[in-house]
Amino acid sequence: MAGLELTQLHKSYGNVEVIRGIDLFIKDGEFVVFVGPSGCGKSTLLRMIAGLEDISGGELRIGSKVVNAVEPRDRGIAMVFQNYALYPHMTVYDNVGFGLKLAKTPQAERDQRIRDAARILQMEHLLERKPAQLSGGQRQRVAIGRAIVRQPEVFLFDEPLSNLDAALRVDMRMELAKLHHDLKSTMIYVTHDQVEAMTLADKIVVLDAGVVQQVGSPIELYQRPANLFVAGFIGSPKMNLMAVHVEAVGPDWVRVSSKDLSPTDVAAETAGLRQGDQVTLGIRPQVLHAGDSGTLVGRIELVERLGSETNVSVALPSGASLMAVLNGDRELRSGDGIVFSFELSSAVIFDSTGLARHPVPTA
Ligand code: ADP
Repeated sequence: MAGLELTQLHKSYGNVEVIRGIDLFIKDGEFVVFVGPSGCGKSTLLRMIAGLEDISGGELRIGSKVVNAVEPRDRGIAMVFQNYALYPHMTVYDNVGFGLKLAKTPQAERDQRIRDAARILQMEHLLERKPAQLSGGQRQRVAIGRAIVRQPEVFLFDEPLSNLDAALRVDMRMELAKLHHDLKSTMIYVTHDQVEAMTLADKIVVLDAGVVQQVGSPIELYQRPANLFVAGFIGSPKMNLMAVHVEAVGPDWVRVSSKDLSPTDVAAETAGLRQGDQVTLGIRPQVLHAGDSGTLVGRIELVERLGSETNVSVALPSGASLMAVLNGDRELRSGDGIVFSFELSSAVIFDSTGLARHPVPTA
C-alpha cells in the first residue's frame, strides 16, 4: 500500500492547459474521489497518475518515490476502466489471470491469487464462464478482479459504473465500498456523479477547469462548500442560489434582502462586506419549510410526489425559481401560492467573488 503526493502537477495538450497546478496529498489506504463536470480534467489527472499520460510539469510521488518517468507497469498501480475489455474467447478464470500469465507469475501462485480475488468478489461460481454468459455487473466484477490479482499499491478507477443501469450501480457502489473496507488499499476513483462521490469517498477532490476547487470529506463539502461552484455541484437537488443585496453588516452576521426575500439576518464572516454589496444567498432545498408565514413567497410551478418526500419547484416574484424538498407526501397543486421559511443556521452567504462566508466557528 502507498500514499501519493501531487505537487504543482500540470498538463498541457499543445498550448491548451488542462491540468493547472494541482497540489494534493493522498494518505495510504484512503478512498479518494475526483469529481467534477465533464471536461474538468479528472480522467487526465487519473491517467497522469497511472502513467498513461505524460506529466507536463510538477512532481508525482507514489509512496516515497518520484514516478514522473516511471513506466505504468512499474508504478504499483492497477486501473479499472469504464469500458472493461474482456477477452470474449477466454473464461473468467483466464481473463482474471491473464496479466499474471504475461508477467510469468508461477502457476500455483497465479491460481491462488485468482481464487482469492474470486472469493473477495463473490464470483467463484462464475470462473468457468465466458464473458458473453455474464451480466454487465458481473463483467465489471471480472475487470475489478483483474486489478485485484495484481496486488497493486494503488487502485485507480475511471468511471467504472457509468455503463451499468441505475439499480446495478447502487449495488456495485456498495460492493466497492466493501472491497475498500476488506483490502484497505489506497483507491482513487473518478466520477461525474456526485452521489457516487458522496457515498464512496473518505475524501472528495472537486475539480473545475483543471483546478482543485475544494478537498474535504463528503460532509464537509456539503455543509461548508468553499465557493459557489462546490455549493452548486455537491448535493441533490442543487442548492438554491439567490441574488440578494446587503442591507446591514454586523460583526458576525449580514442582513440581506431582495425582491423575493424580506430582510433576513444570516450568520457570516463579514470582513470586507459593505452595505449595498450584491451577494448570493445559498439555501439547500431540504431546509425550506412550507407554512403559514415565512420570508419567501412564490407560486408553485411543478410538484413531484415521491412518497417519502415532495419536490416543489416555485416561481418567485423576480422570476427566479426555487426548489424545495418537503418531508412526506404533500397534496400541492401547481399554480397555488406557497410561503417558505428556512433554517437560518443552514443558509450560506457567498461574496461577489463567489467565496463562501461561513461564520467562523466559535471555539
Ligand atoms: P473529464 O475526465 O473531467 O471529463 P478529461 O480529463 O477527459 O475530462 O479532459 C480534460 C480536458 O482535456 C478536456 O477539455 C478535453 O477536451 C481535453 N483533452 C483530453 N484529452 C486530450 C487530448 N488527447 N488532446 C487534446 N485535448 C485533450
